[in-house]
Amino acid sequence: MSIAARRLLGLAFANADMLLEIESGGVILLALGAAQATLGADEAALVGRSWRELVVEADRPMLEALFAGLEDGARRPPLVVRIAGHPGRAVAFTARRLPDNDGRISCAVLAAPPPPAAGSSASDGLLEREGFEVIARSLMDAAKVTGQQLELAMVEMAGLGDARDVLGGAAGAALERQVAGALRAESHQGSAAARLGEDRFVLLREPGENAATMVRRLSRVVATHAGGQSLRAAAHAVPLESGSPARLARALRYALDDFIAEGLKDVPPISLSQAMDRSVRRTLTRAGELGAAVSQRRFTLAYQPVVDIHTGLAHHHEALVRFEDGGSPFTMVRMAEEFDLIEELDQAVVEQVVRQLKGDRTGKLKLAANISGRSIGSEVFVAGMERLIKADARLKDKLIFEITESAAIDDLEVANRHIQSLRGLGCTVCLDDFGAGAASFAYLQRLSVDVVKIDGRYVRDLASDGRDGALVRHLVQLCKELEVKTVAEMVETPEIEDAARKAGVDFAQGWLYGRPADRPEPAINHEAAVPIVARRTGASKEWR
Ligand code: C2E
Ligand code: MG
Ligand code: MG
Repeated sequence: MSIAARRLLGLAFANADMLLEIESGGVILLALGAAQATLGADEAALVGRSWRELVVEADRPMLEALFAGLEDGARRPPLVVRIAGHPGRAVAFTARRLPDNDGRISCAVLAAPPPPAAGSSASDGLLEREGFEVIARSLMDAAKVTGQQLELAMVEMAGLGDARDVLGGAAGAALERQVAGALRAESHQGSAAARLGEDRFVLLREPGENAATMVRRLSRVVATHAGGQSLRAAAHAVPLESGSPARLARALRYALDDFIAEGLKDVPPISLSQAMDRSVRRTLTRAGELGAAVSQRRFTLAYQPVVDIHTGLAHHHEALVRFEDGGSPFTMVRMAEEFDLIEELDQAVVEQVVRQLKGDRTGKLKLAANISGRSIGSEVFVAGMERLIKADARLKDKLIFEITESAAIDDLEVANRHIQSLRGLGCTVCLDDFGAGAASFAYLQRLSVDVVKIDGRYVRDLASDGRDGALVRHLVQLCKELEVKTVAEMVETPEIEDAARKAGVDFAQGWLYGRPADRPEPAINHEAAVPIVARRTGASKEWR
């Protein structure tokens, strides 16, 4: 080797443990340096192999995207990949494609600490939102010391869901993996990208490059895997400004909320604070609209049957509020709780439920209304309920209150006093969403109720007989000892119903028996009724 070449090598190794040259198909042409210590094989043994064999499967799409997105002469920031067969070992890859070099890629490889494990539960290495916020906060903290500047890029990939569905099966899953890899390849060290929704992603990246350049690269890389389906990528980038950690964390949260709810807007925010202001303004506007919808009673109720699990007959119906969009009210209910609108909403819903009960000519209808944990703690709300119930003797035995766990109950003693006064008037009281919140057992201990509704997340997995099965069985046993009835919600299949029955559950609710509908159907008319499931499976007798 001539002196000049040695000098050149010295320079190249100044920031590398290993040098690799890779041909366009992925085969390693040249390997020089600390091959064993970094990639786990000798220099000579590396030549002729594909780089893919060296890297863990989950990180391959990311390096593929890095290589595919290289423009001649351009160099991209390093990506950290994990080495196959060597748990805990990782290297940082920096790649460059020199012009007039037959498309060959020159890589500098440097031993590196493995990427943080936080929040990356998906096998494709994309983070969940929570994990992303944790990593973003720690990078913002580190930036104060290292001076490393980063920006937040919000990326929308319109058409991704449709393309995946059209491609279907293995091709659809492969597209998802490649998209994940392409996004990670754009993110800081390859481990700071998260999925926020079907077509919405967020990542942290080194500033300095126009977001449009990133979008062009992403579009090019992804298009090769989209099977001709059209995907339209767009992105906005905002700097991660400095400020107190608490303020930054809040700004980040609001900016992500805004992006999830609204997508990218025509006018990109110029800073995280601006994105936050926008989100706060939008939230206040929506809260105002919700307040108006509640006070003007602009909502309807949907009714879903709750059946006796032994007879399959409808026992009562749960009333579920629906706003003008017709979708799940969950976020509206949360907002109503945050903006002190919940008592008025719950009161209005119960009034409507009572009207429905009064209009029932069969005399059999029983309805459950959902009451927030916030409302049951309110003297004014409960006094209003008492007046309503006392005003009509027919309501006794027909009105059920489900206390939801969407908001914590502040004072259990007060709540229990209120619950006993409603029960004293003949109403049934149910603890909803049991197991969804941390306080469920404390509630069961301190609140005397008639019924416990087991949260759907435990019920849905009941048939697979894992830990959830054991949990439900023990909970049912506990309720039996306390003389409390149980309802399983989200019973979607006969298998789940069967498992719930075997676990000793008394009542069931879910798509197996009926989705929420405009009217309480099937009607409750026990003498003539046929079990809902029998009817569903084609039994001859009709409901009357
Ligand atoms: P929840 O009280 O636990 O109501 C059950 C939810 O599960 C309903 O969602 C229902 O549509 C859904 N569901 C029922 N069966 C199945 C099934 O088999 N599979 C699946 N995947 N889902 C099923 P919805 O209507 O979106 O309501 C969401 C939550 O909003 C309710 O949960 C309740 O906490 C709250 N909510 C609804 N109406 C009111 C109300 O008038 N006041 C208050 N405070 N909260 C309400
Ligand atoms: Mg409920
Ligand atoms: Mg529930």
